Amino acid sequence: MPLYEFYCPQCRKKFEELCRTALDSLPCPQCAAESKKVLSAFRAGKSSLGESIAASDGCGG
Ligand SMILES: [Zn+2]
Repeated sequence: MPLYEFYCPQCRKKFEELCRTALDSLPCPQCAAESKKVLSAFRAGKSSLGESIAASDGCGG
């Protein structure tokens, strides 16, 4: 399941959200300000791209 990272400019806090929605922004869980989705780079450590792509298929619900 893909994990998205959001950044709240209000309280300057980062929080992560699993693939529940496909939104580009979410209300901050702390101050409810609009938080922007940021690209999470921690997944880039994998050498095989196929793995992460295949894993993103599990969002169907
Ligand atoms: Zn906030």
